[in-house]
Order: sequence, then C-alpha cells, then structure tokens
Amino acid sequence: MTARIIDGLLLSKQLRAEAAQRVVALTARGYRPGLAVLLVGNNAASQIYVRNKIKACDDNGLYSVCNHYTDKLTEIELLSRIKALNHDPKIHGILVQLPLPPHINTHKIIEAISPEKDVDGFHVANAGALMTGKPLFQPCTPSGVLKMLEWKNIPLAGSNAVVIGRSNIVGKPMAMLLIQADATVTVCGQKTRNLATHTRSADIIVTATGKSNLITANMIKPGATVIDVGISRDNNGKLCGDVDFDSVCKVAGYITPVPGGVGPMTITMLLISTIEAANRTAR
Ligand code: NAD
Repeated sequence: MTARIIDGLLLSKQLRAEAAQRVVALTARGYRPGLAVLLVGNNAASQIYVRNKIKACDDNGLYSVCNHYTDKLTEIELLSRIKALNHDPKIHGILVQLPLPPHINTHKIIEAISPEKDVDGFHVANAGALMTGKPLFQPCTPSGVLKMLEWKNIPLAGSNAVVIGRSNIVGKPMAMLLIQADATVTVCGQKTRNLATHTRSADIIVTATGKSNLITANMIKPGATVIDVGISRDNNGKLCGDVDFDSVCKVAGYITPVPGGVGPMTITMLLISTIEAANRTAR
C-alpha cells in the first residue's frame, strides 16, 4: 500500500481563498480583521513562524501588527502592551509567540490576553471551555488537524485514536477535539511504556513530540491515518517530523508530509480565528 497524502498546502489554499473573501466583506463593513503578534527575544524558529503569520495576514487582506522586542523586555512592559491591545478596536486577535524568555511568566502573560482576543485558544477560559465543547477559540494546530481529517472524510466516530505528546498547545486539546468527535482516544507521553502497543491498534495517530523518526512502519496498523505535527531537523539539517515518512507511507492509508502538512494549516486556522473574532465584534 502507498498512503495517500493529506496535502495541507492545498487545503490551506482553499480555506485561505474563502477567508480572504470574508475579510473583504468585513472590511467593507468597517471591521477589517486585525491580528497583533508579539515576539520577545531572538529564537530563530519563532522569528520564522512570526514572519509566516504576518505574511499570511498580508496575503489575505488582514490588518496586522508585529512587535518584536529584545529579551530585555520586562514582564510588566509586556503586560502593559497586552492591556493596550486588549482595548485596541483595530485588533481582534492577540498572539504571543512562545516560548518566552525565562524571566517572563508565560501563564501570567496568556491570562492577561482578553479571552475574546485569545486567537491561540490558550487562555484558561478558552482551554477550560474546550472541555465542554464551547470555547471562543480552539488552539490552531489541533483544529487544523481536525479540518484535515474532515476534508478527507476520515471516520472519527468509533475510531481508535492515539495522540502522542500531551502539551497544552497540541496534545491535550487534540485529544479533546477527538473525544468530541466520538473517537476513543489514548494519549501517550514520554513515560508511556511500549508506545508501539498503543500505536499498532490505532486507526488514527497524531504525533506531536519533535522527536524525529519516533514513528516507524512497524508501529503502524496497515491503512491507518498518520498525522505528523512534529517539527525538527535531521542530522543533515533537513526539516522533518516525528514520522519516518519513507517507510510509514508504505503501510499507512493517509499521511501528512513535513513540511507541507500540518504547518500551513496552523496558520490558516489562525487567520480563520482572527476573522471569527472580528465577525463577533461586527454583529
Ligand atoms: P512539547 O515539548 O511541549 O511537548 C512534547 C510532548 O511530546 C510532551 O508531552 C512529551 O511527553 C512528548 N514526548 C517527547 N518524547 C516522547 C517520546 N519519545 N514518546 C512519547 N512522547 C514523547 O512540544 P509541543 O509544543 O507540543 O510541540 C510538539 C512538536 O510539534 C514540536 O516538534 C513542535 O515544533 C511541533 N509543533 C508543530 C506545529 C505545526 O504547526 N506543525 C505547531 C505546534 C507545535
């Protein structure tokens, strides 16, 4: 078997075209969706992610503000900037790029963002509401994964889903979304004993660890769907995910590539969330 590719770039292109039309309509009514991105320090990967997010805003007609601070920025200064953005009517979404430098308390910063502008869905109000299925915003990466599964009509109800990685950003909300879709969900982490016993019974695997080649062909049930959220670099510096793509694609039914899979969908969902936020203020 050769797995079919779930092309995140292609789905993103379609969704961004729809998003751009909504932006035109909202802008015409005086509610141009606006995103503020705050970056502190010089993390190279974060700088690339932020650049891509701002470019996606520009390409699709959203207003955006990018504040890049040195790592000398104090927690008080960052809190004060967030407070100003909470009250800025041109801004509908506020995103603080993580990780923050160690002298800044990440939890305190996320909690300072108004839940109505928390387009990442990380605020306790939105993370908590995800439990009941009614958040204002869902975290972008897991909601992008769900969109990819729905796009390919991959059955979720009654399926065995294994999520590898249990972070607040990806793994936990991913598990929650799959539970809401009536999947039977197992969440694995670094201390899970014998990961392969779990993955071999999975119809759907979502892996988000950042450990290259963690998932190999012998861990996959033939025909399973394999979603690779991980981003890392191999020994040659080439971008890769958690999955040994070349071997796993011979066993899986569907697979996402890295790059070109989940990554573009994360940004697409960020745009959609910002548009939704603007739309709420326009009602
Ligand atoms: P994290 O470091 O917060 O969490 C990693 C998780 O993986 C932890 O829960 C840990 O227990 C688990 N883990 C680590 N090694 C493991 C192992 N050997 N077996 C089982 N579980 C293991 O990271 P994160 O923020 O959740 O991100 C995870 C990966 O996804 C990273 O590579 C990150 O760059 C990537 N990511 C990609 C996107 C995207 O848009 N494609 C978005 C967010 C994160």
